[in-house]
Amino acid sequence: MPNRDRRSDLIYDVIVVGAGPAGAVLAYLLAKRGMDVLILEKSTLPRYKVCGGGVTSKAIKLLPFDASPALEVTAAGGILSYAGKPITEVNVHPSVASTVMRAQFDHFLVQQAVQQDAHLLTGQSVSQVGVSDGLVRVNTAAGDISARMLAGADGVNSVVARSMGLLPHRKTGVAIEAELAVPASAITAQGPYATFDFGAIPNGYGWVFPKRDHLSVGVYQARPGKAVGIQKILKRYIASQSILQENQMISVKGHQIPLGGRKAPLHKDRVLLVGDAANLADPWIGEGIYYAILSAHIAADVIATAIESSQPDLSEYSTRVNAEIVRQFSYAQLFARLVYQFPWLCSQLLRKSNMMKTAVFGVLRGDFNFQQLLMALLRSFPNIIADSLKRG
Ligand SMILES: Cc1cc2nc3c(=O)[nH]c(=O)nc-3n(C[C@H](O)[C@H](O)[C@H](O)COP(=O)(O)OP(=O)(O)OC[C@H]3O[C@@H](n4cnc5c(N)ncnc54)[C@H](O)[C@@H]3O)c2cc1C
Repeated sequence: MPNRDRRSDLIYDVIVVGAGPAGAVLAYLLAKRGMDVLILEKSTLPRYKVCGGGVTSKAIKLLPFDASPALEVTAAGGILSYAGKPITEVNVHPSVASTVMRAQFDHFLVQQAVQQDAHLLTGQSVSQVGVSDGLVRVNTAAGDISARMLAGADGVNSVVARSMGLLPHRKTGVAIEAELAVPASAITAQGPYATFDFGAIPNGYGWVFPKRDHLSVGVYQARPGKAVGIQKILKRYIASQSILQENQMISVKGHQIPLGGRKAPLHKDRVLLVGDAANLADPWIGEGIYYAILSAHIAADVIATAIESSQPDLSEYSTRVNAEIVRQFSYAQLFARLVYQFPWLCSQLLRKSNMMKTAVFGVLRGDFNFQQLLMALLRSFPNIIADSLKRG
């Protein structure tokens, strides 16, 4: 994809920093409304991004274009295991998720934005953002660039957030993932199923996600602070999965995942944050792609209104994201606390309770919210405890 360049004395309507799902979708939506948009991305594209690449169907539905060329495997259901031992397999129709490789998926999304005439400059690491004389000014290696508004879509370690003094005390968990080459028989054995294992790691879970030609395997610890020994835990998790006995590691990498759930301002002056930069991953399983896309939609609406005004006001963005996303994360936090406090009991509950299965898959598909999921868990809990006591 050619980089389109611009002289720095030109002023864009909106600069989007970061070409992940949040930045690409926001740039697409703004460019489609006729705005002059510049995306600044520090890497050259396509770039590897460590991620399970599980994209829920609610996320796919929210994309403003057909993303099927960028999807790898459509999940037919889930396998629940505990400390490596299979507990249950659930078929789900319609599907609740597909898998992607983020390099291809993210590149596809940004190509859609460029097709709407968004400008893209890659290899441009933004080091500082500031507002003066009614413009946002950005320092890049290519020089200073200005715009009327700016969106920080630059991930969990957002330079934009830091520059603007937003989210100074963010909480993050840690996930580590290996891309594993495995024999064809292992890919067939996994089939189009995503494995989740809540006995793999304290305060988190392990996963095996099927890709076209390999398996993505990782562990996530949904707890703030350093995840001590997480590499060893991943190794142990891989060793515990029978289909992964023969494997070759293509890559292994870790990264922070935001632990969303605390309301906070997500804008200042002419700048707002979307996706991971705004701390928008759910604090239970760390799903972030859907919230990146959802926050991009909200940002596009608010920016479109603000840009018409002589006194732009982005406060509606913080209000809406806190009400529509972060509030649900506070229920997700309570749900996560119960699941991670009683991982075995909750795994059994998922096996036995149809209400729980419906609620969990409903959340992934977007039929239910976290408040309803928490209520389902609280309603099912007494039965499972009584049942366990009966069995001794
Ligand atoms: C191991 C792991 C597994 C995960 N699995 C899943 C999953 O299966 N499903 C799911 O929904 N979520 C998952 N997540 C979370 C998901 O990856 C993120 O929530 C999602 O990528 C957020 O998208 P984003 O666009 O906000 O940010 P990102 O995808 O992080 O994109 C940010 C972009 O900004 C660029 N950038 C950063 N700094 C600068 C700068 N200074 N200047 C210019 N550009 C910059 C980066 O290069 C990058 O392209 C996982 C995360 C991890 C770590």
